Amino acid sequence: MRIEFHGAAGGEVTGSCHLVEVAGKRILLDCGMVQGGREADARNAEPFAFDPASIDALVISHAHIDHIGRVPLLVKRGFKGPVYAQAATCDLFPIMLLDAASLSEHNAERENREHAPGQPDVAPLYTAADVTAAQQQLHPLAYEVDTEILPGVTVRLHEAGHILGSAMIELRADGRSMLFTGDVGMRGTPILRDPASPPRTDLILMESTYGDRNHKDRAATVAELGQILAAAQADGGNVVIPAFAVGRSQELLYWFAEHFEDWNLAKWTIFLDSPMAAKVTAVYDRHEELFDAEAAAVWRGRIKPFKLPNLRVSESVDDSKAINRIHGGAIIIAGSGMANGGRVRHHLENNLAYARNHVIFVGYQAAGTLGRLLVNGVKQVRMFGGEISVHAHIHTVGGLSAHADQQSLLDWYGTSPNHPPVALAHGENPAREALAASLKQRFGVAVTLSQPGMQLDV
Ligand SMILES: [Zn+2]
Repeated sequence: MRIEFHGAAGGEVTGSCHLVEVAGKRILLDCGMVQGGREADARNAEPFAFDPASIDALVISHAHIDHIGRVPLLVKRGFKGPVYAQAATCDLFPIMLLDAASLSEHNAERENREHAPGQPDVAPLYTAADVTAAQQQLHPLAYEVDTEILPGVTVRLHEAGHILGSAMIELRADGRSMLFTGDVGMRGTPILRDPASPPRTDLILMESTYGDRNHKDRAATVAELGQILAAAQADGGNVVIPAFAVGRSQELLYWFAEHFEDWNLAKWTIFLDSPMAAKVTAVYDRHEELFDAEAAAVWRGRIKPFKLPNLRVSESVDDSKAINRIHGGAIIIAGSGMANGGRVRHHLENNLAYARNHVIFVGYQAAGTLGRLLVNGVKQVRMFGGEISVHAHIHTVGGLSAHADQQSLLDWYGTSPNHPPVALAHGENPAREALAASLKQRFGVAVTLSQPGMQLDV
């Protein structure tokens, strides 16, 4: 069994893609997009480092774009084999990729309008039709069931606890085996079950996003959220929460249901202003069988997370615009999570200038985004061609991460029955170097830092 690293290697966290050769077959694990800026667009359009037609099967870990974003392109360029994924991932697949296709088509249109006459037109990376074509190749799998995906090659998915349908992929062939973790969630993440312990295997290919740090305590984080909402209620303004459509939006609604009474939430109107988050929420609703025991209990309770009595889901642009006329008493959850696009920008434009309003950031804010500027405390921002003075209260609530931290990754590895060698991917260099050092020190195991094009025999 030989692994060749092609993405989320060499100190990067996006573009997850690994090629496994075994039993005369070529199996791709993930086929994600590189994210972050214009340079990323160019890299995503580059030829694959392998011939797509030579791949026999693709297995995907979960539905985040940095793990599935290039699948329609792989199909467009000649991949004809099956695509295996957990059933909920198959349901999220078209929602995520149609959004990516529409973004790519939109950007290409804009560039073609703006470029100088005589310049060649830019084509979108792929279109909605390419997504639909790729969707035809999906094969849903359940967790903890062996499936012979190709003659002599068996796959078994294990719960990764990161987003709905997220899986660790166990691959066995020729008497050898490996486990690819995909993204590993934090234990205790609401709604989802905790990550499964690793099976006995010959190699673990592991993510390392937070390999060098530990998250703030979750209970303290949730309590902080409650305190901010109480302060906001006293101020009489609105609360704007930029949030990702998958995971974080649903998690917020979960906390709102659980604390509906003690946070006095009946006094607010809660808006989920994101058509994509609404679609993703519907997929969560269809997969209650994947919820953990606490979530199952909350769902049996009087106040249900996705059916809060004062929850308004705005699908149309008009619904979204109507929120602009509300000057107090609204909690608005909208994307994008880093406020670099999406409907949340309109809500920020309307609310940032007034001291009665509060903005709560609940996720990582990358450099160069509006979210990062606000978190850093800028007093003036430029939006939609105008200058806005920031008077609203800006809060950062850490501790709701969808990724396991260093301690959790070490503890998770510690439950392995045989402590096999490790290869690290999906982490910036300081993070994976710190995790590699801790793994070596605590377990005495060999750790490889993956590099693009590097081969590793298992
Ligand atoms: Zn992910």
